[in-house]
Amino acid sequence: MADREVDFLLVGGGVASAHCAAELRRRGADGSILLVGREPEPPYDRPPLSKEYLRGEAAREEALVHPRDWYGENDVELLTRTSVTALDPEARTAKIQGGEEVRFGKALLATGAMVNILRVDGAQLEGIHYLRAFGSSDAIRDDVAAAEHVVCVGGSYIGAEVAASLTAIGKRCTIVEIEPVDAPGPPTTSL
Ligand SMILES: Cc1cc2nc3c(=O)[nH]c(=O)nc-3n(C[C@H](O)[C@H](O)[C@H](O)COP(=O)(O)OP(=O)(O)OC[C@H]3O[C@@H](n4cnc5c(N)ncnc54)[C@H](O)[C@@H]3O)c2cc1C
Repeated sequence: MADREVDFLLVGGGVASAHCAAELRRRGADGSILLVGREPEPPYDRPPLSKEYLRGEAAREEALVHPRDWYGENDVELLTRTSVTALDPEARTAKIQGGEEVRFGKALLATGAMVNILRVDGAQLEGIHYLRAFGSSDAIRDDVAAAEHVVCVGGSYIGAEVAASLTAIGKRCTIVEIEPVDAPGPPTTSL
């Protein structure tokens, strides 16, 4: 016997789940919706993390997919700092952190992507950051405050955007990229 039942279980606290919840309501679904995400914040857009948020030009609130009140107003239960730890599609049950079992009618798996950790000597040293979440963007901004020269490992969208943002705030940046310099790069993006 499950501890509780919901009509829609949205696993993952990113944009996909946030838009799914909104779309369900927009299309008239009036069943219960539970959105479970392991980050401390409600779902937010990550693009500002390498752009205006990193440069200190935008606040966290501006990156939220929906304002904090939206979830209550739309009868969407939001669990932050919470992981889904097990899923049984046949029984239509999920375990959430803490051991509670949830029976669902339908589930969306929107657990997103993970950072590709660099496995090289020295990768554990201080001053090395990965960019993925609000906290990592904050850490980069704090750390570069005293830096003159920053090295970005990886020169696709995110590396190039970070280099452009840090250059814009007065830092010298070097991108280290595995591709040759004259390889076709990503299309130009506006910052
Ligand atoms: C710095 C940065 C800049 C970007 N800029 C752009 C851009 O300019 N344009 C663009 O199109 N895209 C950009 N992207 C990519 C874009 O952010 C992603 O495509 C988008 O975030 C994918 O959303 P998602 O909801 O599928 O997954 P995610 O954003 O990865 O969200 C999934 C969430 O689910 C959580 N989760 C995982 N497992 C569990 C679990 N078991 N239980 C509970 N929660 C779990 C994760 O912690 C995460 O919070 C950028 C990404 C980054 C990091």
